[in-house]
Amino acid sequence: MRLHISLILFLTASLVCQSQESKIPVLTPGYEQRIRDYVDTLKVIDTHEHLLNPTLLKLTTFLDFSLLLQQNSYDGLITSGMPVTSLRKLYFEPTPVSEKWKIIEPYWNKSFNTISNRIMLLAVKDLYGIDELSASTVEALSAKIKKAYSGEWYNYVLHDLCNIRYVILDGDNVGAKYDYVKYAKRFSTWLSLNTKFRIDSIAVMQVEPIYTLEDYVKSMSVAFEDGLKKGMAAVKVNIAYKRSLSFEKVPVETARKVFRTLINGNEDLVLPAKEAKQLQDYMMFQLLELTKKYKVPVAFHTGIQAGGNNFIGNSDPALLTNLFYEFPDVNFVLFHGSYPFGGELTTLVRNFSNVFIDMNWTYSISPAYSARYLDEWLDAVPASKIMAFGGDQRCVENTYGNLVIARQVISKVLTEKVKSGYWSEKEVFTIARMILYDNAAKFYNLP
Ligand SMILES: [Zn+2]
Repeated sequence: MRLHISLILFLTASLVCQSQESKIPVLTPGYEQRIRDYVDTLKVIDTHEHLLNPTLLKLTTFLDFSLLLQQNSYDGLITSGMPVTSLRKLYFEPTPVSEKWKIIEPYWNKSFNTISNRIMLLAVKDLYGIDELSASTVEALSAKIKKAYSGEWYNYVLHDLCNIRYVILDGDNVGAKYDYVKYAKRFSTWLSLNTKFRIDSIAVMQVEPIYTLEDYVKSMSVAFEDGLKKGMAAVKVNIAYKRSLSFEKVPVETARKVFRTLINGNEDLVLPAKEAKQLQDYMMFQLLELTKKYKVPVAFHTGIQAGGNNFIGNSDPALLTNLFYEFPDVNFVLFHGSYPFGGELTTLVRNFSNVFIDMNWTYSISPAYSARYLDEWLDAVPASKIMAFGGDQRCVENTYGNLVIARQVISKVLTEKVKSGYWSEKEVFTIARMILYDNAAKFYNLP
């Protein structure tokens, strides 16, 4: 009898295996190249940049090779030991190119390996035809950069070379000059309030006195509505650079009490962090009420911070969980693939219908992380919740380099999915379109 049951189980298992095998898509030779070609030619929405205004850039002292080192390469130079006082000579004083290179070279030799530097070199080679950064190339490279920016370089690189159809800038710094450039607005003035001076500044700016907490909340609504008139595509919150992403629901009476302490204090009063947090938390809830009312998505900086010397625990995306519950009608996107909190991000996006992933910046932090987690996210969460490209750069050259690497990483991950028989070739084409364009278009309401 026992033998009989074993035989039945064996036959059943064989049949199940056969039926599963028959579902595995048949691989058609050449799929690797076809996926690569497809991903390389797809139009893209770039969901996050800090690109400097190209007109204003011409007025600075860094329209030379040092422009390309902002911000990621510069951070590498600093963490390799370059004194922070170098910043002034490199970016705020008219310093000759050769002298800039002398400051940078010892630390470049220590940090040339990082992916952000490789991305920059890739762009230097493709866009300017120069193979390396050295004493013998920085002058020629700087001359080529100056010449490039005398024309429509911004447009040419982003639109023509990268095939980027929309860019969302952090801040409205190019105005209406480019119709494909949208912007996300920060409300840091309200979210990080801790001095009376700041309240007075807003009152002066808006030509409207602020006496009460209600006046203060109103001043944020005025700024919000002004942003809407100027085409604000999203609210950006980067407060993790200054404090924890944990926001408690603070009663209005408590917030009002703290506000009164501030408004009745001396001009130089700075609130202790604990008290300031109560007021700031209250303002975050008020801001989210506005995003709910006007149906504006919210982008949170999560994970790794630029500039070094930060507290990474402050930017753990799991700290935002209560906000996702409180505001189910607001769509939240968590930036930078929450590096290094990729697993937490998987869990949040899987559990909340209003939480999305944005991989901007991750490629120039670590392509290995980007590939590992894109692979995981594509297994664990709906593909419609992943936005796979944003450069998070100051200049278009580095956006170009980032996009080259991003397309490589995406192709590699999708090719492995096909190779493993997990998805068909047709399915990965659909996924690629979704994560590079369609999802961001829907999220930011772009045509
Ligand atoms: Zn950014």
